Amino acid sequence: MSDKEPGPELELALLSGRLWGELAGEPGIAAAVEYDLKGGLVVASSAEGLVALEGLADGQRAVGVEAVAVGAGQLHDIEPKLAKGLAGGVLYPQDAQVMPTLAAAHVVRLARAAGASLRTGCAVTEVLRTGAGAVRGVRTSEGEIHAPAVVNAAGTWGGELAALAGTSLPVLPRRGFVLVTEPLPPRTVRHKVYAADYVADVASDSAALQTSPVVEGTAAGPVLIGASRERVGFDRSFSLPVARALAAGATRLFPFLEGVRAMRGYLGFRPYMPDHLPAIGPDARVPGLFHACGHEGAGIGLATGTGHLIAQVLTGKTSDPDLDLDLDLSPFRPDRFPEEGL
Ligand SMILES: Cc1cc2nc3c(=O)[nH]c(=O)nc-3n(C[C@H](O)[C@H](O)[C@H](O)COP(=O)(O)OP(=O)(O)OC[C@H]3O[C@@H](n4cnc5c(N)ncnc54)[C@H](O)[C@@H]3O)c2cc1C
Repeated sequence: MSDKEPGPELELALLSGRLWGELAGEPGIAAAVEYDLKGGLVVASSAEGLVALEGLADGQRAVGVEAVAVGAGQLHDIEPKLAKGLAGGVLYPQDAQVMPTLAAAHVVRLARAAGASLRTGCAVTEVLRTGAGAVRGVRTSEGEIHAPAVVNAAGTWGGELAALAGTSLPVLPRRGFVLVTEPLPPRTVRHKVYAADYVADVASDSAALQTSPVVEGTAAGPVLIGASRERVGFDRSFSLPVARALAAGATRLFPFLEGVRAMRGYLGFRPYMPDHLPAIGPDARVPGLFHACGHEGAGIGLATGTGHLIAQVLTGKTSDPDLDLDLDLSPFRPDRFPEEGL
């Protein structure tokens, strides 16, 4: 919740957070998927930064986010190993963490138990359409699958999938690196902790490299250090300057990390959309095609709400805000972008 400005994405985050909580409330699930309602702590290093952060928190509170102002003198009660001299911060108790691969495996198990089948290593090569243009299934590397509805959940490749259906979606890769430290004792870093300028980086439209420190512990012990953002296409080469910037930012927030080894780093491509909102819902240009992609750096957090909303539209509810959908889908309309220049 903490890094989202008031608006449709924050509403989707509130819905998704509630649904993650419900899922994690089922017996044994929280431990199985490492769900942890640990809270997010955003810190400001200057008085001006703190004013801006508190302004953001005021707006978030107005739409239902819990945001607790934390004075400079209280920061170390909440997060003992933080750097000294910070101006203050805001604590977001609703921010949660989950281990995405375990969560995905659990959801697959649930889906299979409900009758779904999963095919891995099977690429969609064409979206099949009727003479009138409606979807009638997909052609894959393992043959055709016929269905009256197809959901494009291809993440960063959602634009390519849309093109296979004869339509367009401006999904672009936004590269990010993460450093993973050696395991540390539990609760060495208690919250997801990040600097206030991270919010501006997330919202930025720039293709240039941005880094702002984000530090969080994990159930297994390693601390994850992010976050970089840059639009360099699907370039998978490792960047030492980015890794160095991440390490420097993290040690500014947590000086003790200077004595901790980074065991590995990895990179990935966030599915970036020009207006930073995902595409969720039916594609008015291709009957039977639905999109659920383009969540940029929040696709794990927003997964539950997205799945829930797609299930609602697939089972006949509409995205009319006056009807019974849990969230107005119009800001996420897949056809909201002009066709030219795509
Ligand atoms: C460094 C970094 C840090 C991040 N941190 C966070 C975070 O803290 N919180 C958070 O919520 N999110 C985070 N994200 C973002 C998150 O990882 C993404 O938003 C999310 O994974 C998108 O999920 P998805 O299911 O839409 O797409 P994906 O997980 O990318 O899945 C799409 C799948 O579609 C498959 N596919 C593509 N084309 C085809 C085809 N033609 N046929 C068949 N299959 C196809 C792909 O192989 C892939 O398996 C981070 C991302 C990065 C890179």
